[in-house]
Amino acid sequence: MRCGACCTKIYVNHQKGIIKDEEEFLKLKKLHPFYTYLEIIDKDENGLVFKCNKFDKKKHICTIHKYRPGICRRYPSEIILKMNGVMHENCGYSFKPIDSFSEILKKMKK
Ligand code: SF4
Repeated sequence: MRCGACCTKIYVNHQKGIIKDEEEFLKLKKLHPFYTYLEIIDKDENGLVFKCNKFDKKKHICTIHKYRPGICRRYPSEIILKMNGVMHENCGYSFKPIDSFSEILKKMKK
């Protein structure tokens, strides 16, 4: 917990997919304040990689924790998986598949 990986290696997915060029990102910055916190740190085969300037690397805290955006409050959300994303390697969170309705019924009948 509090590793900060989700705040320091971020892809931005918007309508047409992961943002790949700076110009596209500059347009996005006007849409939501969260994007103004982000700084491009790299580009890889997926697209631009960002870090959030609100993350304090020394203290390992979000400096706006009380007022952090909804996307951060909801993290981790299964939408990550729907977008073919993955959790960071050392993340304390993980996703576990839930039983299907028929599996639950089967268990109840036992
Ligand atoms: S706003 Fe806070 S929680 Fe959200 S990415 Fe930035 S540092 Fe992390």
